[in-house]
Amino acid sequence: MVTNALMLKCSNALMNSINLPAIEGGKPIRKDFLVFGRPLLFREEIKEVLETLRSGWWGTGPKTKFFEKEFAKYAHAKYALALSSCTAGTELALDILGIGPGDEVITTPLTFVSTANVVLHRRATVKFSDVDLNTWNIDPNKIEKAVTKKTKAIVPVHLHGRPADMDAISKIAKIHKLYVIEDAAHAAEAWYHGKKIGSISDFTAFSFYATKNVATGEGGMLTTNNKEWYSTAAIRALHGLSADAWNRYSAHGFKPYEAVYPGYKINMTDIQASLGLPQLKSIDKSAKVRIKIWKEYQKAFSTIDSLIIPAPDEADTVHARHLYALVLRPEMFKVDRNRFVAALQEEGIGCGVHFIPVHLHEYYRKTFGYKPGDFPVSEKIGLNIFSLPIYPTMNKKDIKDVIRAVEKLVSYYRRN
Ligand SMILES: *Cc1c(COP(=O)(O)O)cnc(C)c1O
Repeated sequence: MVTNALMLKCSNALMNSINLPAIEGGKPIRKDFLVFGRPLLFREEIKEVLETLRSGWWGTGPKTKFFEKEFAKYAHAKYALALSSCTAGTELALDILGIGPGDEVITTPLTFVSTANVVLHRRATVKFSDVDLNTWNIDPNKIEKAVTKKTKAIVPVHLHGRPADMDAISKIAKIHKLYVIEDAAHAAEAWYHGKKIGSISDFTAFSFYATKNVATGEGGMLTTNNKEWYSTAAIRALHGLSADAWNRYSAHGFKPYEAVYPGYKINMTDIQASLGLPQLKSIDKSAKVRIKIWKEYQKAFSTIDSLIIPAPDEADTVHARHLYALVLRPEMFKVDRNRFVAALQEEGIGCGVHFIPVHLHEYYRKTFGYKPGDFPVSEKIGLNIFSLPIYPTMNKKDIKDVIRAVEKLVSYYRRN
């Protein structure tokens, strides 16, 4: 009897040390930290960048032009303009469409702050419209209610790479004569009903920020099918000069130029384009690896009833699988999302939050009086969501460790 009791006590202690989260003093799943994201770097990128450095053309030049052509082809868009960021692209689109003071722009609260910030830069008004509980993307049924006489544009975001309901959004835009600018920061690889993202709306903005699927450190691309808008965008992206620098200084002869608009300075450099070109070539190959990781995560987490997993793909769409996120059912946990994320990091697993609803950020609360409860679905998701590592250089053990760490924390922190 005594030995039995003692053995039980020992095995309990052993179990405890394995199951106790590292943040509570237990042993972490990993000693070496698994970073949340890591850009891909192959010989091609290095070769291309070195070539550009040695060419002496470091600013906007032939590589940028070539990258634009290749990206336009990839996105099935007539025109693509390479820029310093996706944020710059969205703002430039608003500028070209003449959106400014007195105008309203509808977007989702469940996005990165830049989507809304640029509307404020234009001195226009952001009108948030809540997301769909299933897709986490802007809910077209709610957009209609947010439209007023002042509404000029809708900015849907393809959250995590899942295409927004573009048919419904385009229809609303057509009825109310609104422009559509897509925030496709997550969605370079995505398709919607047989159409490539980048080919559908008035403008589409992509991001090549360091953590994105095509990464150039900083960088972005703006696509459109409208020739006039494209020409205007090219001028406004580089000081508003009538001819761009490449044409000015190249061997094609001297052309005087003048400012035709007080433009921005948001052009892409050839050094950035040199990183982007090889990455664009391998974009679908790396997507395939992320799809595999995605499937493993889905399989593992679908059996955990305290977690909401990403919904299955909608019919006839391709999800870009940029981010894999889980949502805690808060009523089933003893800790909140922030503690859970901190605990995951202590287990040696890098994670992120995409995103805290924009209306709950300090500036938006203080300036516009937003408060919790204003956009309940976005809050239900955004206050309980966290993203796990999903990138092509993860090995089998990395994937397994992520799953084990989540399982460990879920069973420890779950309410009984
Ligand atoms: C990263 C991101 C942006 C901004 O991209 P930048 O290229 O850094 O300007 C915009 N929207 C979403 C949803 C993003 O994740």
